[in-house]
Amino acid sequence: MKAVVDQDSCIGCGVCVEACPEAFRFNADGKSEAYADGDDGKVSDAISECPVGAISEA
Ligand code: SF4
Repeated sequence: MKAVVDQDSCIGCGVCVEACPEAFRFNADGKSEAYADGDDGKVSDAISECPVGAISEA
């Protein structure tokens, strides 16, 4: 599953990067970006665990 991160909402907490590093990474602004497809379950976990609801399914 591919995701998209709302850059205005992301607070750079790192939860998604820890949960699914094959799909999320930090960018130069210290925020997360979804750069690749990840395991569906892990991406779903990241979506539900993001404290500000910044991640959605692409
Ligand atoms: S979990 Fe949410 S707020 Fe935290 S880095 Fe990922 S997208 Fe940003």
